[in-house]
Amino acid sequence: MPPSILWLCRDFRFRDNAALAAAAGAGPVLPVFLIDGALRAQGAASRWRLQRALLAFDAELRRRHGATVLVLEGEPWDILPALAARIGAGSLHRNDWPEPATIAAQQRLGRALAGTPVRLVLHPGHLLVHPRALRTGSGGAYRVFTPFARALRAIGPDRPGGEAASLSPLTDLPRGLALDRLDLAPDLHRGRAVLERHALPAGEAAAQARLGDFLDRAAGYAAQRDRPDLQATSGLSEHLAMGEIGPRDLWAIASARAKADPAASPGIAAFLTELIWREFAWHLLIEFPRLARQPWRPEWADFPWRGDSAALTRWRRAETGIALVDAGLREMRVTGRMHNRVRMVAASWLTKHLLTDWRLGLAHFADSLTDWDPAANAMNWQWVAGCGPDAAPFFRIFNPERQAAQFDPQGRYRRRWLLGWQGAEGEEARAYFDSLPPGWDVPRTWQDRATPERLAQGRARALAAHAAFRQAP
Ligand code: FAD
Repeated sequence: MPPSILWLCRDFRFRDNAALAAAAGAGPVLPVFLIDGALRAQGAASRWRLQRALLAFDAELRRRHGATVLVLEGEPWDILPALAARIGAGSLHRNDWPEPATIAAQQRLGRALAGTPVRLVLHPGHLLVHPRALRTGSGGAYRVFTPFARALRAIGPDRPGGEAASLSPLTDLPRGLALDRLDLAPDLHRGRAVLERHALPAGEAAAQARLGDFLDRAAGYAAQRDRPDLQATSGLSEHLAMGEIGPRDLWAIASARAKADPAASPGIAAFLTELIWREFAWHLLIEFPRLARQPWRPEWADFPWRGDSAALTRWRRAETGIALVDAGLREMRVTGRMHNRVRMVAASWLTKHLLTDWRLGLAHFADSLTDWDPAANAMNWQWVAGCGPDAAPFFRIFNPERQAAQFDPQGRYRRRWLLGWQGAEGEEARAYFDSLPPGWDVPRTWQDRATPERLAQGRARALAAHAAFRQAP
């Protein structure tokens, strides 16, 4: 049997990995990862996290099958046809990652392989169902979440695929980049050491362990998922973003648990709805590839957003003076993560109170989040800004003080990131902020500038701007 190339992307797992199973069933396998333009265009934190996923996968590949990932630098259409010819490969297997730049790269590779004996085979697995499986009655794409979710639940997610029992590695490998000297994120503008200390364990085993731990406490999810001061959500987004766990597998495991454990069932149902939000975001990105660049509602194309400004810089530096907003932005800088409720409040502050272009906020999140997901990030930014699908109407403006009172009632989350600097984590965070260049000074005693007057003024300004825009001819 001729060997196959397994072209890794965001599928660093062995369970439910169709490309891996297909390649392993067809003869010797050469797993390859490419440092290409599409990867370099991604945010630094996401690349830093991807490296951890790659190393964990490689270690497991060695342990299980004595194989290793070949890391090469260059564009797929240049590198892969030559590599296939060099090893005499008959096929090239790839799990689908339906992100626009990646789709374009795959198409170009397909053209480069035309006329060669090498078949490029794409396998589903990044989503619960095939991207085009859900259509409205008139055959179009869904634009509203609720009917989309209903339709998905009606057909049910695809079943997870199996796991390759064995994989025969290819010997006589071409030379690649040394994995132990790899640095996919040399431009990480933050304390790498701090991020490393706050990192959640990477890899498939860690993802499965996290899921197991979450299911043990899922009964509280529905009631507590909006509380940033509690550990109520799953924390699985990084694993999903890296493909260390597949959504079909996740759905199957969680559903089985819900059946077996009636007390956890409502919490798990709410959790699965969030997984459908992820699916909906990808559905929109596939149907509307400009989701990260253009307002989903075309009538917003000319909205006079503010561009770069001192206010944006303060927001990026977590110095807005609004407790919940600054706490979230600091949490993101120190850990690469931010609670969903706080993401919404921070994004609302930037777009609604500061009237700043949502794309600037989106770019900051894309550079800073270790769970960066092109679809979820774009859909949610547009949702908060008011120009996206199922949009929060422009007049719905999160009041960060009320949000804080409701979802961080004792102020534990805000104190942790702003005032208290409690415990070892606080010491590290303080040392990190202290080490930043001038301009990054963080006041030791943080003062709340979110007075009711200031909040009301911001809201009034936003409403007036939107009203003027809507009345303009
Ligand atoms: P859980 O509550 O445990 O949810 C389980 C899973 O459901 C998540 O892991 C995620 O895959 C999915 N999910 C949950 N909420 C959403 C949502 N609102 N939209 C889409 N999927 C969701 N999520 C990302 O994964 N990457 C991003 O880049 C990203 N950017 C965001 C930007 C903004 C402005 C906002 C408001 C939200 C963004 N989200 C993003 C969605 C959400 O904040 C995270 O998915 C969530 O905080 C991850 O934590 P968790 O895994 O503990 O979530």
